[in-house]
Amino acid sequence: MQNVKDIVDEEKFYNLLERTRNPSAGKILKILEKAKEKKGLTIEEIGFLLNTTDEKLIPLMFDAAGKIKKEIYGERLVFFAPLYASSFCVNDCEYCGFHSRNKEPRKKLALKEIEEQVNLLIEMGHKRLLVEFGEDPKENPIDYVVDVIKTIYNTKSHCKNTDDGNTINGNLINSNLITGEIRRVNVNIAATSVENYKKLKSAGIGTYQLFQETYHKETYKNLHHGPKADYERQLFAHNRAFEAGIDDLGIGVLFGLYDYKFEVLGLVSHAQYMEKTFGVGPHTISVPRWQPAKGVDWGRPPYYVSDDELLKIISILRMGVPYTGMIISTRERPEIRAKAFEIGISQTSAASRTSPGGYGSGEKLTQFNIADNRPVDEVIKSVLIQGLLPSFCTACYRNSRTGDAFMALAKTGDIQNLCRPNALLTFKEYLKDYAAPDVKKLGLTVLNTYLNEISDENRKKETIARLKRIENGERDLYF
Ligand code: SAM
Ligand code: SF4
Repeated sequence: MQNVKDIVDEEKFYNLLERTRNPSAGKILKILEKAKEKKGLTIEEIGFLLNTTDEKLIPLMFDAAGKIKKEIYGERLVFFAPLYASSFCVNDCEYCGFHSRNKEPRKKLALKEIEEQVNLLIEMGHKRLLVEFGEDPKENPIDYVVDVIKTIYNTKSHCKNTDDGNTINGNLINSNLITGEIRRVNVNIAATSVENYKKLKSAGIGTYQLFQETYHKETYKNLHHGPKADYERQLFAHNRAFEAGIDDLGIGVLFGLYDYKFEVLGLVSHAQYMEKTFGVGPHTISVPRWQPAKGVDWGRPPYYVSDDELLKIISILRMGVPYTGMIISTRERPEIRAKAFEIGISQTSAASRTSPGGYGSGEKLTQFNIADNRPVDEVIKSVLIQGLLPSFCTACYRNSRTGDAFMALAKTGDIQNLCRPNALLTFKEYLKDYAAPDVKKLGLTVLNTYLNEISDENRKKETIARLKRIENGERDLYF
């Protein structure tokens, strides 16, 4: 029998937040030392960190989180883009532009249109997508979701870059074609049944992401109307997905709906519950902040989270659940994203659109506004200037390193011998096929720097050999 209190014990959370108020510097320093052991933290320790306001201690928290990120994930930053398939939704979530009271016209992409969107995303250099749907059993039944996933995987596009002399302005000039494709499709659909999750699993999804939005039950009930208003349906959706065989699972809250300290306790407690119940914690945690949306009558969200608070949240999550990937989206401004990459984020979107058919032109109903409108190449350039290595890797999932197999790898540090070479190989493809000349130049310098940092000599040799094969026209090489 599933018990809400196993994840969210509200009384316990409030008592804990009260008990951990005004922590001493000594207490925080001790917790930071423990965090650096990369074994995670108790929710009591998370409480002390959340209650830290001392301006001298916050940079130390960022340092500790940055160190953990570097040790586990290295310098790589994985890129993806969202793909909105349908804005039809029967739910009336107060914060969302797709809420059912919004009278703006809706759009559901035909499979042909999905293919067109995917082609545009491939031309931008993307290799992994997060496909998004409103909840509508009539318009967006599970079979449509499955068809969309299959269509994405089946779409192949020719590279636009003339670097290899294969295409000029999209026209083929020799038969040695280089094609691009999406190699991992993550999915964000409303909570559903084990049976439906099994269909997603069979369609070959990567991560199944579902946000609790808020762990605070009363707030949840006030903000949701429609099938999503069922708090427990949402809270235990990951259990059903796991039962259906999906073991890469993503969690998150929408910051701004309720007190962020309560929400962070909810996230960490949920992660610990998953680890205890499934034997594997969440694959990712997302940290979206509410953004204005057409048709949502909020000047500010009820519990506004400042930039500084968001960064503090990210650093605390990195220390609390060190092996879980963490995602930041284009909801955030470039400067916040840059700082977030340093203190814990391992995955990010770029050049996103938040409406079905949004890649391309035309005025469309968006789910929310975005704050980083830069094209992919510009984001890549800024990441390179920061000294990070962009990655388009999808290897783990394709080599069945999901769930506990992935976590075991991360925990032994072996991820470094895989992630760095795989990041280098996929980034090399990006540089060959999509990058502008200045990005290519800068990218090759960064690529060579990290190539030299592969410690295993055999792995380094093999990576060099594969980089050459990519240079000569092969694609999709990975460890
Ligand atoms: N409809 C599905 C659901 O609600 O679970 C799929 C997710 S929806 C397309 C993606 C996420 O966007 C939601 O889970 C929510 O957290 C977030 N979102 C909704 N409105 C938002 C807003 N105004 N600003 C930022 N994020 C928002
Ligand atoms: Fe629909 Fe999801 Fe938006 Fe709620 S958050 S209105 S379920 S699309």
